[in-house]
Amino acid sequence: MNLSDVKIIVTGAASGMGRAFSLMLARDGAAVMACDIDEAGLASLKEEAEGTLETCVADVTDEASVANLVETTVDALGGVNGVVNNAGIFRDALLVKKDRKTGDIRKMTMDEWQSVIDVDLTGPFLCTREVAAHIIESGGEGGVIVNISSVSRHGNRGQSNYSAAKAGLIADTKLWAEELSRHGIRVGAVAPGFIDTPILQGMPERMLEKMTAQIPLGRVGKPEEIYQAVKFVIECDYFTGRCIDVDGGVQV
Ligand code: NAD
Repeated sequence: MNLSDVKIIVTGAASGMGRAFSLMLARDGAAVMACDIDEAGLASLKEEAEGTLETCVADVTDEASVANLVETTVDALGGVNGVVNNAGIFRDALLVKKDRKTGDIRKMTMDEWQSVIDVDLTGPFLCTREVAAHIIESGGEGGVIVNISSVSRHGNRGQSNYSAAKAGLIADTKLWAEELSRHGIRVGAVAPGFIDTPILQGMPERMLEKMTAQIPLGRVGKPEEIYQAVKFVIECDYFTGRCIDVDGGVQV
């Protein structure tokens, strides 16, 4: 797809990678609907943006909110043919408990489990379902879904919730690619490694150093490096059902 033909929702757009994806997609010619629960963050994003970028406060875990998001996008952009499922949170047993060594499944609360599953897996399900239904029902000429997974999908200590959500997203990437291909809708995933966003900025220095030491390229990634993969998924008409790892070569 040419970016000039793309009318795309980016979820979790007020911060970190979603913010970078929104700004760069709009700069490169796509029409962007930036969504988040953070209203103030969206307002500052709109001020910063060049090109076509509209904003909508929406909670990806809420069915009615996502339906409203798609409706608002269609009104504001004159249609919608894509979504970047980027909104994500983590609630690690490892990080929030004092005794880090025992931060395993026994320490994870039901609330930690459910909140991450809701945002990181139910969110992409709802957004993809609504956008795909709109494309097909409006007789559109296909579209593209980009799921932001993570290197943690292989299983990361203390992250039963996050690893399950991000692995589930890869399974659904393959499934949705197959289910939606006859409607001209492609579905691809991008799995970042450790990327310099507010998520990492909240991490203790010692842990960050230990983590960086495991990355063959010797540094964390930048949001613009992940954008290169997101752009590829959107633009390459022969790409679907696969995941691109952009992680500095970190071993999993
Ligand atoms: P971030 O915390 O900077 O931004 C996440 C955004 O999602 C925030 O603006 C937040 O308000 C929004 N959000 C949270 N719950 C929401 C909801 N219910 N509805 C709508 N928006 C909601 O995070 P980031 O580091 O930019 O991460 C972006 C994505 O990349 C996430 O899916 C994350 O899991 C994934 N990821 C991040 C890293 C990393 O190292 N930063 C690595 C791998 C994968």
